[in-house]
Amino acid sequence: MADYDAIVIGSGAGGMSASLKLARCGFSVLLLEAMPAFGGYLNPFRRRNYTFNPGLHYLGELAREDSFWRLLDELGIGEAVRFVELDPEGFDRYLFPDYELRVCKGREHFIERLISDFPKEERGIEKFFEAFDKIIEAVKASRSMEGEVLKMLSFMLKHPIMLRYSRVPYQRLLDEVTSDRRLQAALAAPCGSYGVPPARASVITAIMVWAHYLKGAYYPHGGGGALRDAFVKGLRKHGAELKNRSRVVSINKQGGEFVVEIESDHRYTARAVISDADPVITLGRLVNPKLVAPRIKTKASRMRPSAGALCAFIGTDLDLPSIGITDANIIHYSDYDINKVYELFPVSRPPEDFPSFFITSPSVKDPDGGHAPEGYHTIEIITGASYELFKKWANLPSGKRGDEYKALKEKMGERLIAAAERYIPGLSQHLDLVEYATPLSNAYWVNAVRGGCYGPEHSPDQIGRGRFTSFTAGIDGLFLAGAGTIGCGVMPCVASGILAGGKAASYLEP
Ligand SMILES: Cc1cc2nc3c(=O)[nH]c(=O)nc-3n(C[C@H](O)[C@H](O)[C@H](O)COP(=O)(O)OP(=O)(O)OC[C@H]3O[C@@H](n4cnc5c(N)ncnc54)[C@H](O)[C@@H]3O)c2cc1C
Repeated sequence: MADYDAIVIGSGAGGMSASLKLARCGFSVLLLEAMPAFGGYLNPFRRRNYTFNPGLHYLGELAREDSFWRLLDELGIGEAVRFVELDPEGFDRYLFPDYELRVCKGREHFIERLISDFPKEERGIEKFFEAFDKIIEAVKASRSMEGEVLKMLSFMLKHPIMLRYSRVPYQRLLDEVTSDRRLQAALAAPCGSYGVPPARASVITAIMVWAHYLKGAYYPHGGGGALRDAFVKGLRKHGAELKNRSRVVSINKQGGEFVVEIESDHRYTARAVISDADPVITLGRLVNPKLVAPRIKTKASRMRPSAGALCAFIGTDLDLPSIGITDANIIHYSDYDINKVYELFPVSRPPEDFPSFFITSPSVKDPDGGHAPEGYHTIEIITGASYELFKKWANLPSGKRGDEYKALKEKMGERLIAAAERYIPGLSQHLDLVEYATPLSNAYWVNAVRGGCYGPEHSPDQIGRGRFTSFTAGIDGLFLAGAGTIGCGVMPCVASGILAGGKAASYLEP
């Protein structure tokens, strides 16, 4: 008899949601996490008396009864975390050369704001939101399809908008609604949340990200760690076993049972497996190759990862609110042509200046959340960074990559802080603590393919049927969750975990 009903590999948002879904259904679950701490990108880290949150800066759809709140409620943790609402009048400030877009809560309110910013473009803005509504409706309808061909055909007939936009880049939609380059920039501005410029981005992803945040923006009181802790508490309450420092190295199937081996040679057996590791890793490296169909192997081997990032985690004695820093995220763009902005990031040398970056202060968003000591603040600055620049140190563990690596990331980090001084004057003179992370940090801490922030790239050919779904592994009893399935972001990953957990529960039921 198998040791467990299910083994879940990886404790990111997707893995913890899948485990909790199964545990709440009464199945025995073992959650295996490679790293010392659970949570993947939700795992915070502490330096002196500062706490930083690498992979969660804001979330949408969290008002009571909104979609994300309902997902958390389904897992029994809707009430376990308090979400602090960010300024509904402007939680994202996109700063272009001579225009600032302040994103506000509410589709109608935001449309009014766009029309007031671009009065000559009223018709284009309306056209954009007509497409927006149809795409949202189609995405909702697509959730019941599960890849069945006949259902797919009737779906496409009912939702021709998907025929039009599911395989083309977001730039196509932008070109169809307006030729105003400033409005195009405004409509493409949130692309940092999925890491691809409009010329390469999926229309579906771009619209879903807009829809997520137009319902308002929230920050978990206590940071990403508070959400992680709520999951861990829920899992323990429902009897799931959690093991850290347990990197899975192989998944095999013998006599109808899965055999999952971890680095220490220990093996566990289970009737079902859910993997929250990137599907490229799960299907390309962990599962016995004999079990993987050739077309799945090909798909996994062709997947392009998302972009990497350079992050600066800062503790400062600056009184941020007194110099105008609010709970709004600040996103800098050096040009209205966001496609060009992405090209300005050099692949093989450090940039002189950063054409785009994101600044946020968790301690301003959540003042009593324990982020910084009294009188101090935390700031997190993020920008794009190529894996190529750092790849020669890729096989060395964190903290052991030597002086050349350290010097490179410090040089880039210092330039990033200098760039951020446009918005936080004097920052470089008020650094109480600084730590930098590169694409290698993502690769090391969450096993991200080539250090990508968001799983596989969110381009049209890698979304929907082009991506992976909870069941596309093509192996009975093996399911997938996490950013490599529905898409990146905490909410889609939680949804993917619930979906995969539900599928595994149906599979396990006699
Ligand atoms: C800089 C940055 C900022 C972001 N900001 C936001 C934001 O503001 N809002 C938002 O919604 N999203 C944000 N995201 C995206 C979001 O954090 C992720 O999409 C999401 O958390 C990923 O969840 P996941 O389920 O894919 O698992 P991950 O978080 O990727 O975790 C996977 C886990 O699996 C473990 N694992 C992998 N391989 C193995 C193995 N072989 N054995 C055992 N364990 C293994 C890893 O160690 C890791 O713990 C951000 C991401 C980044 C990088």
